[in-house]
Amino acid sequence: MTQVQTQSVPATQFDLFAGMESTQHEQVVFCQDHATGLKAIIAIHNTVLGPGLGGTRMWYYNHEKDALRDALRLSRGMTYKASVAGLNLGGAKAVIIGDPKTMKNEALMRKFGRFVENLNGKYITAEDVGTTTRDMEYVNMETDHVVGLPESMGGGGDPSPVTAYGVYMGIKASAQKAYGSDSLAGKSVAVMGIGKVGMHLLEYLHQEGVKLYVSDINDSALQAAATNFGAVVVSNEDIVGLDVDIFAPCALGGILNDNTIGKLKCQIIAGAANNQLEDEKIHGDLLKSKGIIYAPDFVINAGGLINVYSEYNGYVRESAMSQTENIYNTILDIYNRAELANVNNQAAAIMHAEKRIHDMMLVHSTY
Ligand code: NAD
Repeated sequence: MTQVQTQSVPATQFDLFAGMESTQHEQVVFCQDHATGLKAIIAIHNTVLGPGLGGTRMWYYNHEKDALRDALRLSRGMTYKASVAGLNLGGAKAVIIGDPKTMKNEALMRKFGRFVENLNGKYITAEDVGTTTRDMEYVNMETDHVVGLPESMGGGGDPSPVTAYGVYMGIKASAQKAYGSDSLAGKSVAVMGIGKVGMHLLEYLHQEGVKLYVSDINDSALQAAATNFGAVVVSNEDIVGLDVDIFAPCALGGILNDNTIGKLKCQIIAGAANNQLEDEKIHGDLLKSKGIIYAPDFVINAGGLINVYSEYNGYVRESAMSQTENIYNTILDIYNRAELANVNNQAAAIMHAEKRIHDMMLVHSTY
């Protein structure tokens, strides 16, 4: 685990053990139930630091290999996110194959919960794309190994405001690095995707006197951003190339790629979206060569994970927020490590994550 593992799982990869080996996965569980129609994959990447925590995504995958690829890619990201955040958690992720609009029901979610229960706490689940807190309530009827429950059930509720706070801290740390001051007053920020995280982020930035630009595919969200925060609405095509100080991708993965990087005029990229670099190595290096400061996504967006982790230990919102505030220091630490090792910021974050896992493996070698 001391080597930088920058390769991602190729789209065509369906050689199961080769796929697991190339990403160093511990265990992959395939769950099938004819009665409910459940087809799920639970990918457990690494549990050196603790049980693997990661949400359950429900998606209508065209091919089973796409579901497997998603599970492998996302679970590996969770390992790194937990490690850099300093949590005693490993990385895992589950995917349920099917259309969440038509196939999801109580029986299917509870059957899935029984499979989670069978793993005896090695995997802890939560909501993700295509699943909701209501679904997690059903899962919770069959297993205690679930977080992201509603506040009424003792959980932390929606983690998005905490994620947004962490992203805000990461933006301030990046400003400190770029401009020698973390004040954002008078700076311009372009936020792509103003959903649950993006909208909360706008609030923080607006309070600090930032000039805001926004894009989304949701017109009512755009309208709300313009009315509440004086944000200027631009198209999804134009937002990438805007002449702004900071670009905050908060919608899709893969937004930093061969087509978009050439258009960037910003000095900092710091946003919530997962897997922003289409290719970690190529595009991480390209941003570095252009002198753009990139805040690694799995470091800056760890607030949501910190929030659900707090829930697992008895939820207190204040402690989740203060731990999330530390993303500021973590981001600066990663930038320093990248400079010292002369690698891009993403690679430095992965090296740091792997080093902690390696060190803890040594700690755990004695009973
Ligand atoms: P969300 O679904 O609430 O918001 C996403 C927004 O992006 C929506 O407003 C949607 O309309 C918009 N969008 C979708 N496609 C778009 C496109 N092609 N162009 C522009 N906008 C588009 O999701 P969220 O919870 O706000 O999460 C945002 C990102 O942050 C996601 O990548 C998510 O994986 C990541 N993330 C979220 C959390 C969290 O706590 N919610 C934690 C970690 C990472």
